[in-house]
Amino acid sequence: MDHVRSVLQNLDEHIEARAQAIRAERDWFPCRRGCDHCCRTLAHPPELSQAEWDRVDAAVASLPDAVRAIVEQAIDTLIQKVGSGSCRSTIVCPFLDEQEGACRIYENRPIACRTYGFFVARDHDQYCELVEYEINTREDHTIVWGNAEAIRNQVKQICGETIPFELHYRNRI
Ligand code: SF4
Repeated sequence: MDHVRSVLQNLDEHIEARAQAIRAERDWFPCRRGCDHCCRTLAHPPELSQAEWDRVDAAVASLPDAVRAIVEQAIDTLIQKVGSGSCRSTIVCPFLDEQEGACRIYENRPIACRTYGFFVARDHDQYCELVEYEINTREDHTIVWGNAEAIRNQVKQICGETIPFELHYRNRI
């Protein structure tokens, strides 16, 4: 397990290096601390590898009691929504501090959160719409994007299949 953790950490660093390279020459790039657009518009509840869930669980467990209670309430609310089938529109991530617009588990956030906006599929799918708008407006076609598929495959290889939100939290139901 230590091996998986350290490989994940290496991936984090690799992703952050690409993100920093993209941001470094573009002070207009929207994806940075303070932007929570993707955290408020998830297409579905988080679905993570076991190793990523382990990091998330440890991060939530280490939050101050009052904050942890808020996060657990948000998790329970989302479990209920999933259970009742009322998750039809976009989802606000239960780990987001909605007032601050900041991730409460930022240092331990999932790989998908780290790559989003910087790593794209071959056809440039997975652009954040804010990023897409800026790119189109500025006609900046010089960005060296990260390879989203390669990262996804590495995570799968190292950490195994992803586990849906409701399955991970099944004991809370
Ligand atoms: S885990 Fe954090 S960074 Fe990822 S979507 Fe949720 S709030 Fe945003």
